[in-house]
Amino acid sequence: MTKDLYEILGVSEKSTPDELRKAYRTLAKKNHPDANPDNPAAEERFKRISDAYDILGNPEKREQYDLMRKSGHNPFSGDGGGAEGFGDLSDILRSMFGGGGGNPFDGRASASRGTSQVEIEIPFVTAAKGGTVQRSLRLPVACRKCNGAGGSGRETCASCGGAGRISSGQGFFSTMHPCANCGGRGYTLKKRCSTCGGAGEIQSREKVSLRIPSGASDGTTLRTSIGGNTVLVRLRVKNDRFFSRKGRDILCSVTVTAAQAVLGASLMVRTLDGKVKLKIKPGTQPGTVLRMRGKGVTHNGVTGDLLVTVVVKLPVNLTDDQHSLWIKVKETGS
Ligand SMILES: [Zn+2]
Ligand SMILES: [Zn+2]
Repeated sequence: MTKDLYEILGVSEKSTPDELRKAYRTLAKKNHPDANPDNPAAEERFKRISDAYDILGNPEKREQYDLMRKSGHNPFSGDGGGAEGFGDLSDILRSMFGGGGGNPFDGRASASRGTSQVEIEIPFVTAAKGGTVQRSLRLPVACRKCNGAGGSGRETCASCGGAGRISSGQGFFSTMHPCANCGGRGYTLKKRCSTCGGAGEIQSREKVSLRIPSGASDGTTLRTSIGGNTVLVRLRVKNDRFFSRKGRDILCSVTVTAAQAVLGASLMVRTLDGKVKLKIKPGTQPGTVLRMRGKGVTHNGVTGDLLVTVVVKLPVNLTDDQHSLWIKVKETGS
């Protein structure tokens, strides 16, 4: 199967943008999944046609593609030499123009090496008060077999001269893109390491101790360095059975009996720093919010409050004695 984009579209490399568009339209129409229901071969062709036009239909990308094609390091050539290299067409496009929707011309593909991202769950109270958590994380580390070299017989990439990038266009209008010959590493290997497959790094479990700042919230990302690698740790704050949070304020509720609400009471309520006495005034209405100042979250030097909502639980299944007492209450008109 050819990997030459011009061949995929059935046009010559000299074709004009108009001719390209026409060829693409005709082929896309013919192979469109709507016109070929349950025909995986047509669907595959349709994908390749779209991918090819995605490049050739864009003057900037076409120029880069032409450059690579002429340089003799054409990853698209269907000469079978790509057996160990590129597989899928979309893989090639990704290596050529970057992936993941980021800026495809944004420098070396390996720029992201050494930075990894993980997500960890932490308890609500740890996020609110701050603290240290220990975790065992799967992280990329230098391969121990090849010491991060990726293999042996390292040679400066002939295509990019070791820069890892190739510039196309001229002067002011030139753009840089990752070198497809070396995958942006700047070198090629005669023999790839069998452990890491040439990547130079492997996934490993590392014991990590992380300082959580007080007032951390769900989605807070901490930057830390582990074994020479930068790791971005995204925090997921677990829900708490008792507390919730609104900015620096902590929210919770206490349940009192009807008699406690009517007559007043003194309760012990949970705070971030242990239990604290809370007075319920006589005649406290259900839903009343009591503010305990300074018992919230401290963040950037400012401390919030603890807001306690009073829930009144009315009695059910009264004993005979209780029943007659409530009748007496009723007769007083309260
Ligand atoms: Zn290169
Ligand atoms: Zn290795």
